[in-house]
Amino acid sequence: MNQFLSRRNFILIPTMSILKFIFKPRKVLASFATSEQDWNLSNEDWKNKLSPESYYILREEGTERAFSSPLNNEKRKGTFYCAGCNQALFKSETKFDSGTGWPSFWDSLKDSIETKVDFKLIVPRTEYHCSRCGGHQGHVFDDGPLPTGKRYCNNGLALKFIAD
Ligand SMILES: [Zn+2]
Repeated sequence: MNQFLSRRNFILIPTMSILKFIFKPRKVLASFATSEQDWNLSNEDWKNKLSPESYYILREEGTERAFSSPLNNEKRKGTFYCAGCNQALFKSETKFDSGTGWPSFWDSLKDSIETKVDFKLIVPRTEYHCSRCGGHQGHVFDDGPLPTGKRYCNNGLALKFIAD
């Protein structure tokens, strides 16, 4: 009997400590995944959430027709939000008329976008997307006005405007 118990403990104790070791980090990972998961939606979920036009821009890196967005002529004071997740991306103070037919900005709000280089038109272009949901917004060029010299050329369908 004694021998049986000690053998049991011999097996149980290391097993328990291994389990503790395995489950602790998992728990931390699970809570991290939950906060990220909010915007880590499947294609199906995004299709249900967005209009077909916005889905094409945000999730398939499409580009709307020039001069097609009413936001192109939006001149009120306010904030432009990601149409996918409502994160604030641009302030009206940085909007300017680039003449391109797409809403254009010379700066984005801090940490609201991330960039990557794409080669869709063979010449490399810098694509940018919402830092929270990954939704494609547009392309950034180096021919914008001062003080940044940047031109964020944004699809209106990827934005929501709320006036102050
Ligand atoms: Zn977003």
